Amino acid sequence: MLITELKNQETIQAQVQGKVFALLCHGCSEIRFPEKEADELVKELAAAGVLTGSFVTDYICNEENLRLRLRGHMASIEAADTILVLSCGVGVQTVAALFEDKRVIAGCDTYRLPGFQGVTPLEHDCKQCGQCYLNLTGGICPITACSKSLINGQCGGAKDGKCEVDPSMECGWERIYQKLKKLGRLDVLKCPIQLRDYAKDDKV
Ligand code: SF4
Ligand code: SF4
Repeated sequence: MLITELKNQETIQAQVQGKVFALLCHGCSEIRFPEKEADELVKELAAAGVLTGSFVTDYICNEENLRLRLRGHMASIEAADTILVLSCGVGVQTVAALFEDKRVIAGCDTYRLPGFQGVTPLEHDCKQCGQCYLNLTGGICPITACSKSLINGQCGGAKDGKCEVDPSMECGWERIYQKLKKLGRLDVLKCPIQLRDYAKDDKV
């Protein structure tokens, strides 16, 4: 159970490039998923002639489930430059990991709500921060992949790619850097400093 809200139009338009495949997840929509706004957005993309296809499904946070369900859509995905994902943060991270070479964009912010999120054994985690940063981090969550939840880059303490707080884990920001490099998107790191609005954590 969770609450997702569509990011504003300007933010989404700025991230979407070229042809687009839209993937909508209704898995945890009992509480709030912006179904109507998401449908309108997909219609607008179609009207603009940039949509290669769209698909509404559930529980995209489960990679195996996602692979099976997308089997009939692979040609449309291949034809797209951007996969626009309208889901919670776990769903976006799952898609970004599955399509490593694609531009995967989060169209929603996920808000804090106590309880269960998704059906995945949580290979990926979302702390429901209300201000999703995945578009700036190559689809890797800086809140959960970094021990300090830093949103503006590495703390400088990593050694041999391991986190200084927990040497058993890879430094999240090293992972983000390598992913952005692979995608040819290192320019993202030059964007203005991100401020985190902690009030959004308590929105509910
Ligand atoms: S940045 Fe991380 S914690 Fe915040 S909404 Fe996105 S996936 Fe969830
Ligand atoms: S070493 Fe990396 S993951 Fe660990 S706190 Fe610093 S930036 Fe975050």
